[in-house]
Amino acid sequence: MPESHKRGMIVRARAVVTMDGPPIENGAVAISGDRIVDVGRFDEVKTSNSGTVVDLGEQALLPGLINAHCHLDYTCLRGEIPRQKSFTDWIRAINAEKSKLSPEDYIASINEGFAEAKRFGTTTIANLTAFPELIRQVPDAPLRTWWLAELIDVRAPDRADELVDAAVESLKFAQNYGLAPHALFTASKNLYQRCEEAGANVLLTTHLAESREEMEMFRDASGPLYEFMKSIGRDMGDCGNGTPLELFVGPLNASPDRTGRALPQWIVAHLNELTESDFQLLEKIRTKFHVVHSPRSHQYFGHNRFPFKRLHPLGLNVSLGTDSLASNESLSLFAEMRAFQRSEPERSPEKIFEMITVNPASALRQQNTLGRIAPGFRADLIAIPRSKDRDLFGEIVAFDGEINWMMVNGKP
Ligand SMILES: [Zn+2]
Repeated sequence: MPESHKRGMIVRARAVVTMDGPPIENGAVAISGDRIVDVGRFDEVKTSNSGTVVDLGEQALLPGLINAHCHLDYTCLRGEIPRQKSFTDWIRAINAEKSKLSPEDYIASINEGFAEAKRFGTTTIANLTAFPELIRQVPDAPLRTWWLAELIDVRAPDRADELVDAAVESLKFAQNYGLAPHALFTASKNLYQRCEEAGANVLLTTHLAESREEMEMFRDASGPLYEFMKSIGRDMGDCGNGTPLELFVGPLNASPDRTGRALPQWIVAHLNELTESDFQLLEKIRTKFHVVHSPRSHQYFGHNRFPFKRLHPLGLNVSLGTDSLASNESLSLFAEMRAFQRSEPERSPEKIFEMITVNPASALRQQNTLGRIAPGFRADLIAIPRSKDRDLFGEIVAFDGEINWMMVNGKP
């Protein structure tokens, strides 16, 4: 559409938190179509742009939130699985729950999840789905969605090619999609390889080094997860040789830029269990991958402490996600920020807010379109109440409620 035909809009608020410079008091954002065209003080934006003025009053306008890791398939499992003694028992428990669900249940679950995420201010979601073939039945996702096909070939490692082809075929209609070989213990080396070969535009994610039992399985070839995977017929030949991280990264070649894996393409969920040699490895590799931490799901499982203080200085980009409601209470990223703040109280609220805006935007390779309020960026915005006397970022992290105004892709 020519610029002159697009209906313009100016959204005014007490504060505009751009994440692209300091917040702007008495600010405004001009929008045309699905894009932000201007941002600044209200009087300036009003002078140089035309359009309907929407005055949000005493509110702070923020970039829409980005959930870097979740599984909307399991929204209906909220509260269904009590904490288990071991991670392996939890896998057994969720498998039992999943066996009771029909395709209709999954579709309903995904739609409920979208509605809840939206109520809490999420405008972009990286969503793993175990059923890429069902996604055509959710054609109009209300949020900006990366559909990530969760792939498991533990029972048929010779079918990796077929699995990847079928997933791509199911998801390629979607604007944004990717592949998620589930984890080293459920996806074969060949499946990881095939996912990497699916193309540079295909986003890649996986679960890595999540539990003590995963570490035990790969490093020591023992423990409950090892026994369980062996009992279902997995080839355990890759166990007893190294840590999960070592297996994922692959052998370091002469140059640390060329590992066995295309690292910058990967968003790695969890990374709780790392040995000293793993930290040395992370230091050596020059190209880094992205990391997602899900604080409340982490707490539910009772994993060892997430090593944020050691990962961050190594240059890894860390975002927050909710994980699924089978191990969490809600899809609120505000609640995730607070859970993260409880374990890392010295991290500033502004830096924590980056973990659900600019950091995940960069993990999704959208650092020039999402996560900030800036000209040329997508018009994904939310508003929360602003009280004059409080520190703005402190107030953002403390916000506990539902959003009463938001815009996704220029549509309020
Ligand atoms: Zn997950």
